[in-house]
Amino acid sequence: MLTQVADNVYRKVVPLPNNPLREINAYIITGEKNLLIDTGFNRPECEEALKTAFSELGITNTDLFITHLHSDHCGLVPKFSTRSSKIFASETDGELINFEVGNLYWRILDDLFVKYGFPKAEFGRNTDIHPGRKYCHDARVDFKYVTEGDVLQYADLELEVILTPGHTPGHACLYDANKKILFCGDHILGTITPNICIELGVENPLKDYLDSLAKIEKLDVQLLLTSHGTPIDDMYARIKELQLHHQERLEEVLTVLGTQWKTSYMVARDMTWEIDCKDWEDFPQPQKWFATGEAISHLQYLFFTGKIKREEKNGIYYYRK
Ligand SMILES: [Zn+2]
Repeated sequence: MLTQVADNVYRKVVPLPNNPLREINAYIITGEKNLLIDTGFNRPECEEALKTAFSELGITNTDLFITHLHSDHCGLVPKFSTRSSKIFASETDGELINFEVGNLYWRILDDLFVKYGFPKAEFGRNTDIHPGRKYCHDARVDFKYVTEGDVLQYADLELEVILTPGHTPGHACLYDANKKILFCGDHILGTITPNICIELGVENPLKDYLDSLAKIEKLDVQLLLTSHGTPIDDMYARIKELQLHHQERLEEVLTVLGTQWKTSYMVARDMTWEIDCKDWEDFPQPQKWFATGEAISHLQYLFFTGKIKREEKNGIYYYRK
């Protein structure tokens, strides 16, 4: 489905088959130069959907802006860039996107998860533990890096780059102050809470995320264009909900943790999750990964604020009150 959401701005709903997210919203700005914001996974269903949108809009060539490193956002970059395309991303996520090509990135990420308490045995059962790995882009990208305050001009939009680390370390939004439009990627979502997880080089992603929410809360936004789900009418109310959600999660993690040494995986197992599974063992493997990632980000936040202790035993982090 292709929908016009503002002058010269279109939303294309791109399917993500067999993925709990179901769809991603790609945005296309048309004019003298065109801009595609995020792409979908590197899989034929996503490619087909974007091609259909391009032909409906009569577009053959476009620049690209990638909000962050996840494969549902950047999987098709090599396929939709031409020799004349400029491809924008933050340097932090752009470097990681290129590092994702090949196995080293995923091996380091696996090792990081093991260090943070995800059992090594769980990897053995499913090599596709992370859906992003399966549908990742397959070639390096020649990015033009953007940073805070840079302005990109497309049609009559003046899009200022706002860095919003948290969901990923180099997550970036685009903001038009005159039109009060914010392309927010996965920083704010309406139907689900953006996943906050450790990444290479990041130790306290939840603090980064909450700081980035506070930063966005100061902007004057009337049209919030998210990467997943339906539009959010009131960004400020949603930010309050997300802040409250994380406060409640921090309290829950403290309660679950108690005074016994536990890994993030053990904490995740005992937390409450909105998922249609009868118990933790019933969770699909990728969901265990994401749940553990959530537990890690809350445990690390509590550790850095001095509320809990952390100890490394045999190369694995354990936490307790
Ligand atoms: Zn994402």
